[in-house]
Amino acid sequence: MGGPEIEHLIGLLAKLPGMGPRSARRAALKMLQQPEARMLPLASALAEAARAVKPCHLCGNLDSRDPCAICSDAQRDRTSICVVEGVGDLWALERASIYRGLYHVLGGTLSALSGVGPEDLNVAPLLARVTGDGVTEVILALGATVDGATTVHWLTDRLKPLGVTVTRVAQGVPIGGALDVLDDGTLAAALRARRPS
Ligand SMILES: [Zn+2]
Repeated sequence: MGGPEIEHLIGLLAKLPGMGPRSARRAALKMLQQPEARMLPLASALAEAARAVKPCHLCGNLDSRDPCAICSDAQRDRTSICVVEGVGDLWALERASIYRGLYHVLGGTLSALSGVGPEDLNVAPLLARVTGDGVTEVILALGATVDGATTVHWLTDRLKPLGVTVTRVAQGVPIGGALDVLDDGTLAAALRARRPS
């Protein structure tokens, strides 16, 4: 069907989250029918983003600046750090516009089953930030999975001796749920109802 270039394109598109072979074929066809209007702008946007966007060395957010826009924003409350599993969770909290502090992206959760230990996560930089930077509260906004709960306990044990208030997001986070699929209102309620960890 149409040569190896098209098959290659469909194969790459089908690997994207939310895409299967069927939606990949539809997207490829749409682009191929309007290469100037759809395909070339997308190609240059992809190349530009791949070149410019990097993880922030402080918090792990993705941005074309380092430190990222959030870490460099003087208006944000620098006494509070909200710990999230991934950048998608950070984006979800920012979309909900309910939190004005700083973030820290862990890059996953502890998992005995998958062999993920503290050294595999962005943990040491978190402890360093909490020790050094006038931080008074750490909010653990991790998903309500078994691994999320394990990670909350583990981090609480290490953060409390540093003299900060440690809280965790409460109601509204469904059991087994990830943060970035919650609607903004539920996410806001979960953050407001945080409780001591
Ligand atoms: Zn940052």
